[in-house]
Amino acid sequence: MTSLPPETQKKLGLVIDLDTCVGCHACATNCKEWNTGGHSAPLTDVNPYSRDPDGVWFNRIHSFEIDRGANGVGMTVNFPRSCLHCEKAACVTVCPTGASYKRAEDGIVLVNDEKCIGCKLCSWACPYGAREFDVTKGVMKKCTLCIDRIYNENLDEIDRQPACVITCPVGARHFGDLGDPGSEVSKLVVARHGRDLMPEMGYKPTNKYLPPRPRKLDPALLGAPLELKPRKTKKGEKILAWVDNLLSR
Ligand code: SF4
Ligand code: SF4
Ligand code: SF4
Repeated sequence: MTSLPPETQKKLGLVIDLDTCVGCHACATNCKEWNTGGHSAPLTDVNPYSRDPDGVWFNRIHSFEIDRGANGVGMTVNFPRSCLHCEKAACVTVCPTGASYKRAEDGIVLVNDEKCIGCKLCSWACPYGAREFDVTKGVMKKCTLCIDRIYNENLDEIDRQPACVITCPVGARHFGDLGDPGSEVSKLVVARHGRDLMPEMGYKPTNKYLPPRPRKLDPALLGAPLELKPRKTKKGEKILAWVDNLLSR
């Protein structure tokens, strides 16, 4: 079994804003792109065009429809899922070979694939489904927090962030030291009441999720059919009005 460091100097992690995430999968795609050529290369794809595709992704997006009842407001929530770099990571402590480990300097949880025997105990121990088995190499893989970007002095300083963070088109992903109360990510967590995922499990995840904000809708419009009236137009606007009316049907 493998020990966790009693303390870590930093708690590097992600803050993910469920209010602004639009579920576009850009973060997952750029994660795969960067990591396939980098530290954990290659992230395999098995039968990608078959009816039963398989493969390794460090980040996956799940979309949920929330039905608030007959008179309530429905909502779509897009939920990106990757390793949360937990403080009490049982995926590390169950590992019989020391392949899974948590770094004392920054809290990142990694797998040394030269020590991994592919027993899969760590994936059973992770309640978040964040570990992915590489069937072609017979080793476990997981999010590295793009360790080969964030410390990479060949990159401009602004680019030393995880691939998922740098690519998110709506700025829903934030990276930083959650152990430093003065960091931008820590301030964001306080301001937006960031939450741990499944805190009852006792894993103390480093990553935090910002909950969706309540939608501001006019109650008078809820449930009432929207009345569409043709627009009165000048001569030159007729074609636009026609398209407008067509799209309004
Ligand atoms: S999310 Fe899972 S794989 Fe990542 S540190 Fe926590 S228990 Fe381990
Ligand atoms: S699959 Fe590899 S990393 Fe996971 S517990 Fe077994 S040896 Fe450790
Ligand atoms: S790139 Fe940003 S908006 Fe798109 S799925 Fe990822 S977190 Fe959500």
